[in-house]
Amino acid sequence: MSLLGNDRAARRDAAVRAAVAQGLVSEREPVVGLLDVAGVRASAAALREAFAEVLPANAASPGRPGSPASPGSGGVLHAFAVKAASLVPVLRLLADEGLGCEVASPGELALARAAGIPADRIVLDSPAKTVAELREALALGVAVNVDSRAELDRLDALVGPAGPAGPAASALGVRVNPQVGGGAIGAMSTATETSKFGVALRDPGARAWLLEAHVRRPWLTRLHAHVGSQGCPLELMAEGVRIVYELAEEINEVAGRRQIDTLDIGGGLPVNFASDETVPGHREYARLLAATVPGLFDGRYGLVTEFGRSLMAKNGMVVARVEYAKSAGGRRIAVTHAGAQVATRTVFAPGAWPLRVAAYDAHGLPKTGGPVPQDVAGPCCFAGDLVAVDRELPPLATGDHVALLDTGAYYVSNHFAYNALPRPGIHGWLETARRVRFAPVRGPQTLDELVAESGGAHVDGLSALR
Ligand SMILES: *Cc1c(COP(=O)(O)O)cnc(C)c1O
Repeated sequence: MSLLGNDRAARRDAAVRAAVAQGLVSEREPVVGLLDVAGVRASAAALREAFAEVLPANAASPGRPGSPASPGSGGVLHAFAVKAASLVPVLRLLADEGLGCEVASPGELALARAAGIPADRIVLDSPAKTVAELREALALGVAVNVDSRAELDRLDALVGPAGPAGPAASALGVRVNPQVGGGAIGAMSTATETSKFGVALRDPGARAWLLEAHVRRPWLTRLHAHVGSQGCPLELMAEGVRIVYELAEEINEVAGRRQIDTLDIGGGLPVNFASDETVPGHREYARLLAATVPGLFDGRYGLVTEFGRSLMAKNGMVVARVEYAKSAGGRRIAVTHAGAQVATRTVFAPGAWPLRVAAYDAHGLPKTGGPVPQDVAGPCCFAGDLVAVDRELPPLATGDHVALLDTGAYYVSNHFAYNALPRPGIHGWLETARRVRFAPVRGPQTLDELVAESGGAHVDGLSALR
């Protein structure tokens, strides 16, 4: 299947039209998330192929990189960053495409397990793991990347001097902050001098401490780095990986054996929100990595990746009804049902997270008509609840629809509960023989669920406390 822009836009139009015709988006359910199943599969395939191209031929099939049973197998595990789309059917679909999961909380681990992801295809990263979380991960055999010196002390107490044992033992590693600097979005840059993530490699004494920590713990077999998400240039990310690779080489040199057998290079491939083109692609990044860090691709190391946004963003959209069209101070405003509750980052940080908006009529057909500048507002009760300001679009009217494009990652699934607006339903779609079929991913949150989640069971709790 082609992922060319035109093709993607045509398939998207067909999906919106079918969603309206089949009543998925309606007066009763005025906002909905739609995921492009064929697009997700194609993105996963592009990721697999990109790395298969730069790895030795025998490493192409995902194995158990870095597991004690197969050290340095040269295999690759693509672990999807669950926070990008924390939806069980999405994790299952990606697993069908050969991916595992990167999780960062007990909730995300529960989602990965509910999706049937085997423990040895799950990686746990988080800067705030409790002892209980570590214990659970070790009991399951989930891989763990330790984030700090203090966490390594905790791990010591749990695994003992010999480290974890048995064929299903967790692969364990340390997250390093290569301190290569930040990208265009500060909040997304995890490898700055003072980032909260990982062991800061260039801090005084840190490198020596890391070397010694590994020599004393032969069971630490991985190194992990995730330089940033969205806004980081590929060169910066590759430089972070190069620095961590050199640390692995040094550890192995000092240890006198191939102790570090797997590098977890994180995710962070930026997404183009400006058009339908998938640029940069996984292939471009994999080639840059292979050119920057050739030793990582010669078969001596297993590889783990943790991409999130680049697998899902362009394969999802939010579709919402226009409830009213009005004007104020000469500005046209379309009041829709998609605002901060589904597009939180865009509403609060519009400069960093601009979104394209597509206009459709009441039947879900692309709106024609000469574009005029208008604001696209959401339903939330604050003035800044705008997903687009002064945007040139065909004039929108009551009953029309808008689609927020490229919102398959970090949008629909990351609901913001403001105004007690319900989490919208999400459907996957597939077009075969010119027919669009939908499958439920998540039902819309009901009002009863909303009340229950808002303390409905404790209605008299506060009044009774006298
Ligand atoms: C968020 C995150 C990812 C995924 O980042 P994307 O930009 O979505 O690819 C991967 N690894 C870690 C540790 C993360 O925090």
